Amino acid sequence: MKIRVGMGFDVHRLVEGRPCKLGGIVLPHPSGPLGHSDGDAVLHAIADALLGAAGLDDLGTLFSDQDAQWKDADSAKLLAECLRRVRRAGFEVGNLDVVIATEGPRIAPHRAAMRASIARICGIEAQQVNLKGKSLEGLGALAGGTGIAVQAVCLLEQRSP
Ligand code: MG
Repeated sequence: MKIRVGMGFDVHRLVEGRPCKLGGIVLPHPSGPLGHSDGDAVLHAIADALLGAAGLDDLGTLFSDQDAQWKDADSAKLLAECLRRVRRAGFEVGNLDVVIATEGPRIAPHRAAMRASIARICGIEAQQVNLKGKSLEGLGALAGGTGIAVQAVCLLEQRSP
């Protein structure tokens, strides 16, 4: 079996009054990711990891933030479309792993719900998805809860013809 690895990264500003939508669920937090779409940085990083592993165009090329069509878009729908393209190219998801670096919302209490949500959107099992939050130790531009950075890695397995 052929396997391919992909990596995704995304950063969004966290602003007051925006829903804190991450991994397809809304976390109870006073600020949320700003974006042309709903700003779900977790789903964006996962989408880019999957597209990268499959050798396809990246998320920003497929769904440009200059295109009014994607204004306030539900990132779950964008990710589902990416998965359709990845599967059409002959791949199936082996696993995903995600690191969420922020001093905004606490991730740990919502890990299970986020894993289940991501698995549902991707059409895979929750055991194939892992994620964790990391504090920034008060360092750097994202400290103080003003932003969120997400890294995702995925493994794709090529279906036998
Ligand atoms: Mg993004």
